[in-house]
Amino acid sequence: MIEFSVSFIEFTLATLIPIYTGMLSVIVIGKVTHLNTRYFSAFALGLLLWFFFDTMNDAVQLGVNEGYTFDFHQTCLVLLFVTGFLLLTLLGTTRTNDNLTGKNKFSILVGIFAAFGMGIHSFGEGLEFGALAAGTQAATVVDAIGGVGGGVSYFLHKLLESTIVIVVFLAASSLDVSTQKQVRQISVIGLIFAIPSMVGEAVAYYMPMNATYFFAMGAGAALSVALYVVRPIFGGRPEDVDFSQWMRISFSVLLGFLLLYGAALFHS
Ligand SMILES: [Zn+2]
Repeated sequence: MIEFSVSFIEFTLATLIPIYTGMLSVIVIGKVTHLNTRYFSAFALGLLLWFFFDTMNDAVQLGVNEGYTFDFHQTCLVLLFVTGFLLLTLLGTTRTNDNLTGKNKFSILVGIFAAFGMGIHSFGEGLEFGALAAGTQAATVVDAIGGVGGGVSYFLHKLLESTIVIVVFLAASSLDVSTQKQVRQISVIGLIFAIPSMVGEAVAYYMPMNATYFFAMGAGAALSVALYVVRPIFGGRPEDVDFSQWMRISFSVLLGFLLLYGAALFHS
């Protein structure tokens, strides 16, 4: 067992440092290269595709290998996936709200929603780490996670995940925001992305929980975040899609996903 304070501080730092490094790197690269945000969005889409695949594996592919059992476990996985997706879809309707007072207010909301959506799976990661720290025979955190490689992997993956969040925010941002205001907004977005990891770690250290369900919900949320990411690639403005179109687009994506998942259940 590793002491709670040690495990919590090390995990928090290993989460916060790459998150802010990743977000600041994107901003600096954007300012230096003056690349159109659509290319950053395309890069984020690539990251998100792997992220979705990886999170689905953590969610045991929503129990597809069980076939049509409809037991408690499989039903919960599917319902949580759908819940995560619908939650982010509903939050995303503010992207189409013409009554928002300004683009800056709109962009911080979109950034917060993307951070929240991507943060759901982070709660699952926190749960896994907390349980590991409480139950390990290893003397240090690095030994508990299987050596330096495990630490490097976690650091890099958190750094790259944070770039997805910041790209969604920047694509919705106006260019005339002061640096001071942007720093404040990015600090908030980073915290919203990081806090679920920290809470998950603290909870599972004392009360282990099944992280699979949070990965299922996180995968559903990520599928909706993919729609946030895709739109700027082709130059679409948020106001180009109204509320009912956004809902119909989202439901079409969900329907396609669930139908092919349902087909896959037959050969399990
Ligand atoms: Zn992750």
